[in-house]
Amino acid sequence: MFESLSDRLAGALKDLRGKGRLSPSDIDATAREIRLALLEADVALPVVRGFIGKVKERAKGAEVSAALNPAQQVVKIVNEELINILGGETRRLRLAKNPPTVIMLAGLQGAGKTTLAGKLATWLKGQGHTPLLVACDLQRPGAVTQLQVVGERAGVPVFAPHPGTSIGGGENPLGVSASDPIDVARAGIEEAKQKQYDVVIVDTAGRLGIDEELMRQAAGIRDAVNPDETLFVLDAMIGQDAVSTAEAFRDGVGFTGVVLTKLDGDARGGAALSVREITGQPILFASTGEKLEDFDVFHPDRMASRILG
Ligand code: GDP
Repeated sequence: MFESLSDRLAGALKDLRGKGRLSPSDIDATAREIRLALLEADVALPVVRGFIGKVKERAKGAEVSAALNPAQQVVKIVNEELINILGGETRRLRLAKNPPTVIMLAGLQGAGKTTLAGKLATWLKGQGHTPLLVACDLQRPGAVTQLQVVGERAGVPVFAPHPGTSIGGGENPLGVSASDPIDVARAGIEEAKQKQYDVVIVDTAGRLGIDEELMRQAAGIRDAVNPDETLFVLDAMIGQDAVSTAEAFRDGVGFTGVVLTKLDGDARGGAALSVREITGQPILFASTGEKLEDFDVFHPDRMASRILG
């Protein structure tokens, strides 16, 4: 991940080294190189434009500094602007004042939602919380079982409908249908309240592509459970499609934060660098593998340092 972007940026900035003063044309030439590096990494065009505009403006206006030579100054500016497009400060997960906190996961099929549910639950457990996973992906055959397997591995209970039954078994105390994800979501929250789980993670169905039915269903679940956080799970490997997917989820469901998955892959980095600016929502977590522990809070400054090498 980011390897070719890192190399290209290093190349662009290297040419400045040893220069005592930077002329406007030095800065323009460097900005052009940075622009190409970002475009090649699939960063969305409006994001690239904004980024380059700021870097140029700041580089040209930079005061002569005793502490940093001109090349170092430009590196510092690029670093700070990378941190900015990645969201600036680390944004913590918002927890409800009155538990349970409800976290809904949304995203395309294969984005890594179910895996993430287990990771997030494990992470929350490590912070002293008592999470409950709720299986609302009733579309994909095997999705409920997959969440149960994830829950078992994470040592976290899973609230799921049994195929062909009503929730609550024969007694059906909640009187809900096992085939309607909205009913399952509501019942899951009730279960959490009764059994005092303090965080509910609602896994929802994804589709291979964006479709209206998917959006309607996700919006219906959102309205039913009124989440404290709706996390849009984005596969960093999908490259240029990331922007249209993120926009579709923003407009169709709305979300309060992003989780980037598959950052361990060899994606060029465009999704990671575009999603915050395009959607206006912060990246909260990063997923870097298939194991439960391959997961961490997202830190814009660390990611920027990694990109700049
Ligand atoms: P869902 O359809 O959104 O629920 O996606 P899944 O959780 O089933 O994940 C789809 C595939 O991606 C599975 O094979 C996961 O093991 C894999 N996966 C999920 N997150 C990551 C990640 O961060 N890195 C890698 N390499 N694979 C991941």
